[in-house]
Amino acid sequence: MTAEDRLRTYRGKRDFGRTGEPSGRATADGGGGPRFVVQIHDARRMHFDFRLQVGDVLKSWSVPKGPSADPADKRLAVPTEDHPLEYEDFEGVIPKGEYGGGTVIVWDHGTYEPLSHDRRGRPVDFAESLERGHATFRLHGAKLHGEYALTRFREGGADGEEAWLLVRKGPARPGHGTPDPRRARSVRTGRTLAQVAAGTGGDGAP
Ligand code: MN
Repeated sequence: MTAEDRLRTYRGKRDFGRTGEPSGRATADGGGGPRFVVQIHDARRMHFDFRLQVGDVLKSWSVPKGPSADPADKRLAVPTEDHPLEYEDFEGVIPKGEYGGGTVIVWDHGTYEPLSHDRRGRPVDFAESLERGHATFRLHGAKLHGEYALTRFREGGADGEEAWLLVRKGPARPGHGTPDPRRARSVRTGRTLAQVAAGTGGDGAP
């Protein structure tokens, strides 16, 4: 499947004449290892969007409570449509009435190391591990560091929507818990959701 096919759902939901989100038409540039991004999205319901670069798209999950630094916190992660790679940089206001209308900040970003392996400890292709419903990886972000796992616990279908858990592996990092989304600041511009919504704060902003 090409990126064009994988982004069909993403594009079908949006009017790029009205929203400032990227259409994914530009060729994104790779290098430096696969990327991850965590955005905070003040939509109808506040949530975190957790995205991992897999090939030429960002695999995406909506995480209502956001990632935790405590391995005891299993965080619900509901898959959403693949997003274009340039979405990593998207911060701004999606107009009211449009799909996902509300304010978005980039809370954290960086690279990740795929760690998925089979029961015998042999490395497994990361995309394949996600398709099978269990992937492990180490994040190297500005805020998030260390090993996490994404595990599907419910298949989509008659029983309801597909659902996963995002769980921290390894030692807890006290003091690195999930931020209050309304006080959290963008890793790109230092702005809060309110400042982005108002078009204030940050470097060079009015
Ligand atoms: Mn979202």
